[in-house]
Amino acid sequence: MDLNGLKIRILGAGIGGLTAAIALRQRGGDVAILEQAEAITEVGAGLQVSPNGVAVLRALGLEDQLASRAVRAEAVELRDYAGGKLVARLDLGLMPEDARYYFVHRADLIDLLAGAARDAGVKVRLLQKVAEVVPGSSPVARMANGAEAKAQLIIGADGLHSKSRSALNGTVAPFFTRQVAWRATVPNTMDHGPVAQVHMGPRRHIVTYPLRGGALVNMVAVQERQSWVEEGWHIADDPNKLRARFADFGGQARAVLNAVSDVRQWGLFRHPVAPIWQKDNVALLGDAAHPTLPFMAQGAVMAMEDAWVLGDALAKAPDINTGLAQYQQRRQDRVARVVDAASGNAWKYHLSFTPVRMAAHFGLRAASILAPGRMMGQFDWIYRHDVTTD
Ligand SMILES: Cc1cc2nc3c(=O)[nH]c(=O)nc-3n(C[C@H](O)[C@H](O)[C@H](O)COP(=O)(O)OP(=O)(O)OC[C@H]3O[C@@H](n4cnc5c(N)ncnc54)[C@H](O)[C@@H]3O)c2cc1C
Repeated sequence: MDLNGLKIRILGAGIGGLTAAIALRQRGGDVAILEQAEAITEVGAGLQVSPNGVAVLRALGLEDQLASRAVRAEAVELRDYAGGKLVARLDLGLMPEDARYYFVHRADLIDLLAGAARDAGVKVRLLQKVAEVVPGSSPVARMANGAEAKAQLIIGADGLHSKSRSALNGTVAPFFTRQVAWRATVPNTMDHGPVAQVHMGPRRHIVTYPLRGGALVNMVAVQERQSWVEEGWHIADDPNKLRARFADFGGQARAVLNAVSDVRQWGLFRHPVAPIWQKDNVALLGDAAHPTLPFMAQGAVMAMEDAWVLGDALAKAPDINTGLAQYQQRRQDRVARVVDAASGNAWKYHLSFTPVRMAAHFGLRAASILAPGRMMGQFDWIYRHDVTTD
């Protein structure tokens, strides 16, 4: 199908919406993004972009820009919480040279994508809060201020609390996973190298990695807890309370915790993958279709993969709705598998019974020394999948 001049409206200027805008504009679409915020900005936090996400940015001509703003990751290290002793190391250098893995500040990735979208001719309309989406042969997005946006194709990339998802699927309440998370960025005074460190403790873990040429360190800390905390991730918490909850963590985790001066907290909720991603000229993408827990660092990367496949499926299909059906069909199983893998990952880091934890750590250490390639290879289905050459 020729996308030239096809009137496409994308709801949400997050990582998924911006990537889709670039992909569809590069194929000739008449693309505008409607974003509720007054500016395209992002919170101070990090993002891991694994090789499958880099493949999409490369295909869009943006890998060099990413590389110039990001830290190239060398390894993922699993460490014991108490003294920071190395348990296992996944050497990212064992992957082929073109399979690059980066750590990037979210604000830098959003800035890069927004610049590329504007340069390609995408219109970005701010302060457009979508209240309702109505599928149809001429689908409509109704704004909270009463205005309407009509198009030939509407893409709902409006994130976790998507109006587009509820238009296609109704509303399903998520459930609290009994896990609470904190995020912070701190100056890299502890000489954190270009690796992601997972500090594994009983019922808790902390992930740290460097950003911005190594000037900053990003931290996400997770604790199992019975009591409920809100899902948004902008709730300020007291850094001393965070330090108290992780008081027994040592090594570099301790140094990072000590440096925290501003921290946000939120509850981790599990949402089902939406059964319906597309209907009557409306499609969902990214967190709007499949919110995921952060334990595989794949939410933004899946949104980028969606964006590429959506453009490709539309271009190869005879009409819009056939293209949208093929998009869902090409994406659904892979995304569901990644979401399940992320949901199943936390307990592996959180073993609380000391003998079990020690045995598990022994097994991991042995595997990483004796069969490092095999250990890395278990992630090939995620990292070595390239949707742009599929
Ligand atoms: C702590 C943490 C760490 C993470 N780390 C990683 C990682 O390392 N790697 C990774 O790949 N993923 C990671 N993720 C997941 C990733 O952040 C998300 O999956 C990703 O941002 C989803 O992108 P999106 O474009 O679908 O949605 P969003 O980024 O949420 O963007 C949605 C956009 O839509 C706008 N919007 C919402 N509602 C409306 C409306 N009604 N009208 C108009 N606009 C609207 C919003 O303002 C926003 O701009 C992490 C998530 C968390 C919480």
